[in-house]
Amino acid sequence: MSIFSGLEKIVKTDCHLCNYTWFGLGGSADYVITPHTVDELRTVVIRCNENELPYKIIGFGSNLLVRDEGFRGAVIKLEGEAFSQIEYKGETVSVMAGASLSKLVLDCVRKGLGGLEALTGIPGSVGGAVKMNAGGTFGDIGASVQSAMLMDKDGNMFERVKPDLVFDYRCVNITARIILGATLGLAESDPEQMLRTTKEIWIYKKNSQPLNTRNAGCIFKNPRGVSAGALIDRAGLKGMRIGGAMVSEKHANFIVAEDSCSSSDVIGLIDAIRARVKEEFDIDLELELEIW
Ligand SMILES: Cc1cc2nc3c(=O)[nH]c(=O)nc-3n(C[C@H](O)[C@H](O)[C@H](O)COP(=O)(O)OP(=O)(O)OC[C@H]3O[C@@H](n4cnc5c(N)ncnc54)[C@H](O)[C@@H]3O)c2cc1C
Repeated sequence: MSIFSGLEKIVKTDCHLCNYTWFGLGGSADYVITPHTVDELRTVVIRCNENELPYKIIGFGSNLLVRDEGFRGAVIKLEGEAFSQIEYKGETVSVMAGASLSKLVLDCVRKGLGGLEALTGIPGSVGGAVKMNAGGTFGDIGASVQSAMLMDKDGNMFERVKPDLVFDYRCVNITARIILGATLGLAESDPEQMLRTTKEIWIYKKNSQPLNTRNAGCIFKNPRGVSAGALIDRAGLKGMRIGGAMVSEKHANFIVAEDSCSSSDVIGLIDAIRARVKEEFDIDLELELEIW
């Protein structure tokens, strides 16, 4: 009997993960599973445990590089209606992890709920945004999250609430395997003013990031008080290439994947950048990108 018998409708086998990431790179996973309900998700997690099958959760794959060898195990993606719901109650918004962050930001702006405009132009799911504490110069999602609904490795659901929930630069102290959703505390604001703010942020991003390319946003975290992009630029690495991977001319902390690119090209370029920045400035760059 197969590990996932009875769940065939939501399980794909030997699936190319390049179709699930913004980089469009990487080998296959043994299984890609898209549960439609929390109960189905729990069953999947329990089956993985019973069969000692490693598994990972993927959002929209906008902060991920999958190696050319792929991932031996199951990749679980929360999508469909149950995992995309957004509920508005006054200034509080409850949102499921599979919802699109960009859609959430836009909906909130239209409804006159302020607090998320800083996240304009950040792709990905709400689950990925909470896990990464997505944000930037203008603020991060952690500032608005009041609580997160989680699932542990045994399929049990529980909630973590601030101040027990602590967000820091591109991270949060969540150790549970799965983020199911989050509750956000927003504030009534003027929709027109918010729309102007989001437009300004969009223009800023369009001018400073290679948005119409295959990339995964910033590759490295900013070391304390310094911009990683500025260090890479000052080391003269803009335009540097390995195979089909290139340091963006527009933003030195972005790597752009061209048609012939493989994941090992991107990893080779990451190693080369780190070595040069260490040599020039004696600074160790830490990855913001996650590599599977
Ligand atoms: C053009 C571009 C611009 C970007 N700009 C920014 C920016 O300004 N600021 C910023 O912070 N990031 C930025 N990013 C990076 C990325 O968009 C964010 O990190 C985003 O929050 C990742 O969300 P995702 O759903 O794509 O997560 P994924 O890339 O799919 O996953 C990222 C991590 O989150 C985990 N994860 C995802 N969903 C869940 C879940 N439900 N439960 C548990 N774990 C989960 C994954 O296992 C993985 O560890 C940018 C990326 C691109 C391509």
